[in-house]
Amino acid sequence: MHDFHRARRQYLDSEQIPAPTAGNMRVGLLWPGSYESGMASLGFAELYRRLNLPGVSTCERYFGALGTLTPEGGPCLSLESGRPLGDCDLVAVSLGCERELGDLVGLLRGSGIEPLSADRGGRPGVVAGGAATRSNPWLLKPVADVVICGDGEDALEALAAMLGAGRGDREALLEYLGGAPGAVSDRGGDGLPAVSRPDLPLVSSVVAPRAAFGDMRLVELVRGCPRACGFCVCCRHLTPFRQAPRDLALERLAQSSGRLGLLGAGVADWPHLAEALELLASQGREASVSSLRADRLDERLLLALKGCGTRSLTVALDGPSHRLRAMVGKELGEAAFKDGLALAAKLGLGVAKVYVMVGLPGETEEDLRELADFLLELATFSSLTVAVSPFVPKRNTALQEAPFGPVPLLTSRIKLLSHLLKGRCRLSQVSPREAALEHALTWVSPEAVADLVPHLRQGMSAADWKALLRFDRSGPLH
Ligand code: SF4
Repeated sequence: MHDFHRARRQYLDSEQIPAPTAGNMRVGLLWPGSYESGMASLGFAELYRRLNLPGVSTCERYFGALGTLTPEGGPCLSLESGRPLGDCDLVAVSLGCERELGDLVGLLRGSGIEPLSADRGGRPGVVAGGAATRSNPWLLKPVADVVICGDGEDALEALAAMLGAGRGDREALLEYLGGAPGAVSDRGGDGLPAVSRPDLPLVSSVVAPRAAFGDMRLVELVRGCPRACGFCVCCRHLTPFRQAPRDLALERLAQSSGRLGLLGAGVADWPHLAEALELLASQGREASVSSLRADRLDERLLLALKGCGTRSLTVALDGPSHRLRAMVGKELGEAAFKDGLALAAKLGLGVAKVYVMVGLPGETEEDLRELADFLLELATFSSLTVAVSPFVPKRNTALQEAPFGPVPLLTSRIKLLSHLLKGRCRLSQVSPREAALEHALTWVSPEAVADLVPHLRQGMSAADWKALLRFDRSGPLH
């Protein structure tokens, strides 16, 4: 406990973040993963700010771990004051990835809060959202009284009104949020994501140097993506494509301080990106962009990125071959990657990371051979890291009916790719077993989750999950 409070103060001292306001209602904002991942989420930081507005609540943050420090079955304590989570009137959960369901259940139980909504007696109310609920809000339905899928802005307004009225219990959540767009609860809900009109650009009020992105201030310039890749949750779940207006964005970027991280699934399609980077570079500012499209890598953008201190690029090839890229709707040709990365290398940006998936429907070894040949060609002018991940079909995407895996095939495909690359590119991978777990939790039914909850706990490994979920050669059964 002494270690926790010492770490808590060190983390607090490292941050630039507004202190909680004094309010009548106490809200525990819970990120079941680590502080480092939670404070790299602009959505989480924005929730903290909005829930601490005068007249709403006193909101404090709770994390599953501070660095390597995890609670060991005891109550989860807030970062701000060490207050136990069980003392809160309302728990607002943001779930970053599906497997953190185990951490969430363990943290609630350790704090004396019944993890199943049906057993809780209505207090505290538990509301949940976050990236993991975009593809499967049903995952959290047995635990949370209301789950919000998609954009949270409208639900947050209803939540603020509820807290302002001095309510934080389950009945209040159902009354104020049960009918909100994107809400899933005992009152119904179709699991389709809510779409709001966010006030873009959204500039984070927080700088957290110990977070995954370091001392970077995050700025959301766009929401969603105008493309329509068949495997992607961003285009369908965060549609339509919404963009920050040019003048307002340039003004806010110029006024914000420190290193900036420019975000948004389709940020490379924001037409003012190069101009914004040039402005920041002219002020001697550092900035980076979360994702780039190969066909956007022209001289102007690359020089602007370089002027902001960027030294490496990240692009997504996604499908291993021309045929499979066309199949998933990725319309970029090979020339865009070759020309873009070659120009980048010429301008001094010769380090690149390329994302690619294996296990797309209809994939053969020939597709992997084409991929290896293409990557080796790119590696003649770029120092390349290839980030390989197994394809996981997600709900509400064009490829949702596609099969997953099986795990042995995915493992053999990654081995083949590694062999064909002959050590001339670095390879990083999401393991097929981890992907199988993600697949299981993407498609699991609420009834199955309710059965699993008594067996879940914090810090579960993939092997622990495997012992609970049944697998066969084609992946998880549920
Ligand atoms: S994969 Fe990228 S380009 Fe395609 S829809 Fe998703 S965010 Fe847009």
